[in-house]
Amino acid sequence: MVTLPDKRTDFFDWYLAVVESAGLSDKRYPVKGMNVWTPYGFRARRNLDRIMIREIEATGSEAVEFPALIPQTEFSKEKEHIKGFDAQVYWVTKGGSTDLDLPLVLRPTSETAMYPVFALWVRSHQDLPLNVYQIVNTFRYETKTTRPFIRVREIHFFEEHTCQVDEASATARVESNLAAFERMATAFALPFVPVRRPEWDKFAGAYYSVALDIPVGEGRTLQIGSVHHYRENFSRPYGIQYEASDGTTKFVHQTTFGLSERLLGAVISVHGDAKGAVFPRELAPYEVVVIPILSAASGDTPRSAANEIVARLARAGFRVHLDDRDDRPGAKYYYWELRGAPLRLEVGAREAAARTASAVDRLGTRGSVALDSLEADVEGALVAFDRALLGRAQAEFARAFALVRSVEELRGAKHVAQLAWCGSEECGHAIEQAIDGALLGTPEGTPPIDAPLPEGCLVCGATTGVRWVLAARPL
Ligand SMILES: [Zn+2]
Repeated sequence: MVTLPDKRTDFFDWYLAVVESAGLSDKRYPVKGMNVWTPYGFRARRNLDRIMIREIEATGSEAVEFPALIPQTEFSKEKEHIKGFDAQVYWVTKGGSTDLDLPLVLRPTSETAMYPVFALWVRSHQDLPLNVYQIVNTFRYETKTTRPFIRVREIHFFEEHTCQVDEASATARVESNLAAFERMATAFALPFVPVRRPEWDKFAGAYYSVALDIPVGEGRTLQIGSVHHYRENFSRPYGIQYEASDGTTKFVHQTTFGLSERLLGAVISVHGDAKGAVFPRELAPYEVVVIPILSAASGDTPRSAANEIVARLARAGFRVHLDDRDDRPGAKYYYWELRGAPLRLEVGAREAAARTASAVDRLGTRGSVALDSLEADVEGALVAFDRALLGRAQAEFARAFALVRSVEELRGAKHVAQLAWCGSEECGHAIEQAIDGALLGTPEGTPPIDAPLPEGCLVCGATTGVRWVLAARPL
């Protein structure tokens, strides 16, 4: 049995121990920050992809795939973008033993791969909007400590890129993306706050950036995705323009939406506990694990009942797994709790005779299912489990924020701070220094704590331009 470190006091040790002992990723590959997707972890990743694809395609986005290598000349066209990524890119400079005439960048993100082609695709207003996404691996030479799923150098990346007729349509696309993420987050049972980043922390080349942040305890946060409005910042250098219905030529306004395997890290961080990982059903590699309890006295009836259960649940579309390994039932319970399976069904001789199974969900709720109504009973148990998981996460989310009314309170804050800021960069940096972290930015919509806005800036007391902002120590 693995003894996990304490999640609250040794978060990163706990996190690594869960990822490793639950068999989700193997970080022993000999390139730092490039990890191996194990069979169990890959199942979770496939479910993650399915949820992202379902929700983005519901908004009319189509899948594409662009090459992984980008010519240096294209990569360098947008000045801010190249500045932002310069220190993080991998270069391909040789083909065999020959130096390449034109060095190639291994994509850190795909603006500069896609936009020269978008300039060919977009001709008239009838070609707009252009909404496409891809799920590919991207590469970034991370200099910070790498951690499986959370900070890696080869990233399993979801990126949507769009072209719109004007600024207002691009703003509407940002809102559509945020609504799509809200639906994804429901599937992950993950409460989050969309935050508009301050000018000095927006995406390289963006007009503005909305990040999706979650609290992960002790005043820390994790950015789990982002949506960006580019205005014409990329369409001008890349020449993406169209003929409007009045015959004039205009540049498109662009947006992007980025997510990654970090969502798996977020789910482990938020839902995991002293027993290990906890997966919401849609993300779970297996929603249901069936364990026959065999003994000398039981004969074979538990096994045949378990087989019937597995066959019927699989036919009904559940992701179900039969654990008939030669091991003690207690060891199997522990094993599947560590691996985060939402629901396990135990079938002993008594259950088999009564045509039932004991049902225990990952939060410890016990019940039973009848074979007569198996599919409906299991569905009910999984729905109840997801609801309870979301409820637990929402309660923790609500406890993670605190109103802060003085600079002193920021020092060593154990909560994500919600505070009043005048908007000046100087005051922003003072806030960051005090909390030893980042000014995350202004929450979009209602802030986490619904309270009357103070009259003056927390730092300088100025009364103009005051808005709520969040500050924390990002992971
Ligand atoms: Zn101020």
